[in-house]
Amino acid sequence: PKRISIQHETKDELTKMAVTFNRMIGRLDANLERQKQFISDASHELKTPLTVIKSYADLLRRRGIQNAEITLEAIEAIHSEATRIQRMTERFLDLANTELEHDLDLISIHLASFCEKIFNQLKIAYKREIIFHYDNDALTIMADELKLKQVIIITIDNALKYSTDRIDVYLEDHEHNAVIRVVDYGIGIPHNEIENIFERFYRVDKARSRATGGTGLGLSIAKNIMKQHHGEIKVKSTEGEGTEVELHLPKTQKTD
Ligand code: ADP
Repeated sequence: PKRISIQHETKDELTKMAVTFNRMIGRLDANLERQKQFISDASHELKTPLTVIKSYADLLRRRGIQNAEITLEAIEAIHSEATRIQRMTERFLDLANTELEHDLDLISIHLASFCEKIFNQLKIAYKREIIFHYDNDALTIMADELKLKQVIIITIDNALKYSTDRIDVYLEDHEHNAVIRVVDYGIGIPHNEIENIFERFYRVDKARSRATGGTGLGLSIAKNIMKQHHGEIKVKSTEGEGTEVELHLPKTQKTD
């Protein structure tokens, strides 16, 4: 049989190994805790729409056949809550996807035309005004096209959801980064809440967010995607005046 030889380690080396080992266990513990918290929060979020669906299904069973009005009301409610669950589960998958570090599909992206195309689609979908400002037509970055589009959509969707006016988007050329700055003139975010909005499921106003179809996961997903791209997302806001969200992405370095 093969023998495993154990080398003689010095006390210092053993102490170092123990410290590293403890740190690894600590990290695993924290990850496990985060996962447990996620499962508990996600179940909680799914509970409300499922309860509504179940009560309407019960109502349909008892009185649906005789009463057309009740039938219609129940079908509407079930459809709308089922749509909500569908959107939520899609978000859960997006979140899981963006917590992994490695699966980016990087290509060179010409930002001005990329943004313009997305904004044109969103203007039609939301029937709202999005004004796009940019000076540098040559800005390019390396990014995963689908994921970048997702971050932009999450940010614009929020700007439109929490305001009623037009929004402005600026594409800016900073020293190391390309910056997409989304400015809305809506309800804003209280100063002491800004650090919380990137937490999973966190919503400043739960009822309002639910009414607009929010899940509280958008910004967590956006933050993960920005991190995967070695970028950053920054928020400035004044309650009652509006919000600015900046997406900072490393520029492609010129080789000439
Ligand atoms: P949601 O799906 O609820 O919009 P997000 O994770 O995208 O979830 O955002 C978290 C919370 O941050 C929102 O519920 C809202 O309270 C706040 N928020 C995000 N963007 C804006 C904005 N542009 N203006 C005002 N509040 C915002």
